[in-house]
Amino acid sequence: MNKYVNMFLNILYPRHCPVCHRILKNQKTLICPECETVFCRIGEDYCLKCGKPVKKQEEYCRECSALCRSFDQGRSVFIYNGKLRQSLVRYKYYGCREYGDYYADAVCKYTGKDIMRWKPDVIVPVPLTGRKQRMRGFNQSAYLADRVGEQLQIPVAYGLVKKTRNTKSQKKLNAAQRKQNLADAFRAEENIRGLTVLVIDDVYTTGSTVDAMAQCLKGAGAEQVYFITLCAGQQ
Ligand SMILES: [Zn+2]
Ligand SMILES: [Zn+2]
Repeated sequence: MNKYVNMFLNILYPRHCPVCHRILKNQKTLICPECETVFCRIGEDYCLKCGKPVKKQEEYCRECSALCRSFDQGRSVFIYNGKLRQSLVRYKYYGCREYGDYYADAVCKYTGKDIMRWKPDVIVPVPLTGRKQRMRGFNQSAYLADRVGEQLQIPVAYGLVKKTRNTKSQKKLNAAQRKQNLADAFRAEENIRGLTVLVIDDVYTTGSTVDAMAQCLKGAGAEQVYFITLCAGQQ
């Protein structure tokens, strides 16, 4: 964008820090320097399948040891803790979309290597139902996908997968109930035979959403399905 348009937009809508929500002193940065270490990064001990933090020496998390997964592999950047939860609430429901620029930047910085190793042909954000997206005004995952795709030069296919019906909140359901809740909730609109797909979402908990997406994408012909989420819950 034009430099002057950017400057003008920064005066009208100054950027806020995704951690403390103060207006950033340096509008060219995406987070204040003192907040940079507040979100907790997932260290070296993560599940080799889904990327969730695990205990030292463990190879797979509880879910990945017990379940057969439809996705091939995935990674997350941060641990889903209270600070990040607050930040995501402001991002999703209170119009702080600029946080998405920081989140996408962190995804590229910390998981870009994995993404390039997977060589995805296309990025697909986890869709919302049309109704939910209209209520919320935007799709938080599509915003991330858009920026990650731009930085890493990978095309983004927004409408490739549609969410066909509203599903109950997953929070209070167990693994089997989650699977049932999501069965047939996604529909692929095109044949994607032979493609490697990267799914992007904001939060990973039990993996049932990403798994349902992967099942749908593989049903439509995808060869491999990987995923990146901004954060993952601890076991
Ligand atoms: Zn801050
Ligand atoms: Zn796992």
